[in-house]
Amino acid sequence: MEKIEQRARSGTHILCLTYPTQGHINPLIQFCKRLASKGLRVTIISTKSFPSKLIQTQNGFLTVEHISDGFKDGETLNADSFIIRYKVSVSKSLAEFIEKQLSSEFPPKVLIYDSLAPWALDVARRFGIDGAPFFTQPWCVNVVYYHFCKGTFKVPLEEPTLKLPSMPPLRVNDLPSFLEGNGSFLSLRDLVVDQFSNIEEAKWILCNSFDKLEDELVKWVASKYPIFTTGPTIPSMYLDKRMENDKDYGMSFFNQNTDTCITWLDSRETSSVVYVSFGSIAALEKEQMEELAWGLKRSNCNFLWVVREKESGKLPENFSDETSAKGLVVSWCPQLEVLAHKSVGCFMTHCGWNSTLEALSLGVPMVAMPQFSDQTTNAKFIEDVWKVGVRVRVNEKGIVTREDIEVCIREVMEGEKSEELRKNSEKWKKLAKEAVDEGGSSDRNIEELAAKVVCN
Ligand code: UDP
Repeated sequence: MEKIEQRARSGTHILCLTYPTQGHINPLIQFCKRLASKGLRVTIISTKSFPSKLIQTQNGFLTVEHISDGFKDGETLNADSFIIRYKVSVSKSLAEFIEKQLSSEFPPKVLIYDSLAPWALDVARRFGIDGAPFFTQPWCVNVVYYHFCKGTFKVPLEEPTLKLPSMPPLRVNDLPSFLEGNGSFLSLRDLVVDQFSNIEEAKWILCNSFDKLEDELVKWVASKYPIFTTGPTIPSMYLDKRMENDKDYGMSFFNQNTDTCITWLDSRETSSVVYVSFGSIAALEKEQMEELAWGLKRSNCNFLWVVREKESGKLPENFSDETSAKGLVVSWCPQLEVLAHKSVGCFMTHCGWNSTLEALSLGVPMVAMPQFSDQTTNAKFIEDVWKVGVRVRVNEKGIVTREDIEVCIREVMEGEKSEELRKNSEKWKKLAKEAVDEGGSSDRNIEELAAKVVCN
């Protein structure tokens, strides 16, 4: 405690640059809260506007500042144009921001940046500041990108499976999908591979995972780079409860139907509900959406399904009315509260890393239905490594059928594997909490990082 107070008195200031999607902002905000709780003065830099207020954490300060991304209000761009424009505009506005901060009362010592913005390191170093990327995805995904960047393998694979150090053999559909790099995925492939383009120059490397979850991999990366594994980045009240009132991430791009969801869940029996969500970006084909809808109905389970407003036109006609006795469809929900609710028995997920880590941390077994990006690799680990879920099978037309969806849900909810999946989920829940609790691996890593920043 004394060390933390000393740090707070030193006014050591650290900047953290977010990347503007829900799945990237959530973990970085949460990580910043933990850093601030170690006595540091933390400024979150965002290009999306959300309430810019000074948050007095228990021991330090957390502020949110907004910088320009150069886009006009409401302007939408395809991935290629977005990535290029974002880099050019934010490099400039970030440089202006850092310059101003350097002449402030608390000049910043380090810039932490979302690993999707490796160019932020160059900006920081121009001002003599060290930089550290924060990887919002797990080591099992980052390491695949690392090897691809170093030229260890190519896609398509030359062998049926890819064997990388400290990793299980990966088939092509276990690889992060952007590596296929065709069509519009080319710029996305560059985006994820470029995370490693200047990694040797980073002062430290941070990652939203925890040591015991990826034991072998963490050791392998740590033998090469100065890493800090600091997750799970989930509000403290769902884990160690040491940060009072830390119940949500504090920033959402969507309006959530909190009361409707919780009242509905309260009315259902324990472990009887399948919670279904595909996160903030994935958009299913209409045919897939219909298969999913009928698969849910066939499972005969209660279900709470998040269908974002833009996607709702793909639901079968009258679906919500026809299934209203068993199901509730909402446009967004308080996912952590839902996963922590006793009525939820399983999570049908697209396997975005936040969703995966939230389910692991709250002990909810999963039906893994990955769509793209890192989700395919996360699904492989959910099923085969952490053994907390089953993965749906995609047919020759690229569709997961209603029959398969029904089988997978039944397997997790009541099948032969159900008990083992639940036992494993409970195990990871305990280990996730331990990691961030006082003296746990992530807590120690954040403490050590804070100490290093002060001395930097
Ligand atoms: N989320 C939420 N309500 C919803 C669906 C998602 O609060 O109805 C949150 C979820 O808790 C997670 C984030 O949105 O923190 C989604 O991140 P993830 O990495 O799982 O997926 P992405 O949206 O990046 O594909």
